[in-house]
Amino acid sequence: KYILGIESSCDDTSAAILRNDVMLSNITAGQEIHRQYGGVVPELASRAHQQHIIPVVEAAIQAAGIGKNEIDAVAFTRGPGLLGSLLVGTSFAKSFAMGLGVPIIEVNHMIGHILAHFIQEEGKEKEVPTFPFLCMTVSGGHTQLVLVKGFLEMEVIGETMDDAAGEAFDKAAKVLGLPYPGGPLIDKHAKNGDAGRFEFTFPKTEGYTYSFSGLKTQFMNFINKEKQQNPSFVEENLADICASYQKHIIDYLFMKLETLAAEMGIQDVAISGGVSANSELRSRLQQVGEKKGWNTFIPAFQYCTDNAAMIAITGYYKYLNGDFATMDIAPKARFKI
Ligand code: ATP
Ligand code: FE
Repeated sequence: KYILGIESSCDDTSAAILRNDVMLSNITAGQEIHRQYGGVVPELASRAHQQHIIPVVEAAIQAAGIGKNEIDAVAFTRGPGLLGSLLVGTSFAKSFAMGLGVPIIEVNHMIGHILAHFIQEEGKEKEVPTFPFLCMTVSGGHTQLVLVKGFLEMEVIGETMDDAAGEAFDKAAKVLGLPYPGGPLIDKHAKNGDAGRFEFTFPKTEGYTYSFSGLKTQFMNFINKEKQQNPSFVEENLADICASYQKHIIDYLFMKLETLAAEMGIQDVAISGGVSANSELRSRLQQVGEKKGWNTFIPAFQYCTDNAAMIAITGYYKYLNGDFATMDIAPKARFKI
């Protein structure tokens, strides 16, 4: 089956074609416009989606080397995300599918981030997690510990009560004067830094609940205090600050992940979402996995941040279940797994 996937939940417009679970194309147009505002501006995002969606879908079909009449279903992100952005993808999916006479499939973006682990590349068989496995989803809007029992059977065991891990990176980067999104830049500077140089404390949260807003405040107070004594504190210590803060976030994430895996007796552990592109987080999962005897799964870079291939793969498994949406479906800004 050929599935067209469409993703438009935040600031990336993406389209992908899969043949069953094999990725044939995965094309994304980002939006530079938000950079100057230090964050995503919803009105500008939906307008840019409108400009990008047709060329991106055409490019994906062309790169896949198929004709558009060969498409068997159109999968789209219904939520969670920005309503205006979701509306562009949802409306496009409906009219495009209607024109082709094929069904539409609604996809939860967070399930997509997890099922990205099942996307295969042409000509090489990739190992996939076995059910049940644990997935720690760390992205710009979410931080979740998910027990994945089947392709479409998932339970959120723990999540953040406020900011997401990605926000903890981005907001700290802003304090350091780095442009949005700062996560990848903290990662880059941290590579040359001493992660043991500065220490932070862990937010006190029960069980498998995370909280990142306190961490951000702690970081802000620390920087402001140091700057009072030395105005060029940030410039002089950027690498060490980034390395120490990044290590702290990762320590906090793993503290709960490791306890949960032990408690549930889980052997297969995965990470997903934009922050899973972080080089230190990736190597930590590998290290911890080796020590604990886990099978670990780290997504390829193109499947960490938002992409339509993850929407198409979820669409494919729903297609197999005959789980189609009706044409009166509306996007959902808040949408639980
Ligand atoms: P959600 O999936 O929760 O709706 P989103 O789709 O906006 O949110 P993603 O695209 O999955 O989020 O992830 C974006 C986040 O990933 C940003 O916060 C960004 O800073 C962060 N990120 C990307 N690369 C890295 C990296 N190398 N290190 C740390 N953070 C990173
Ligand atoms: Fe996302």
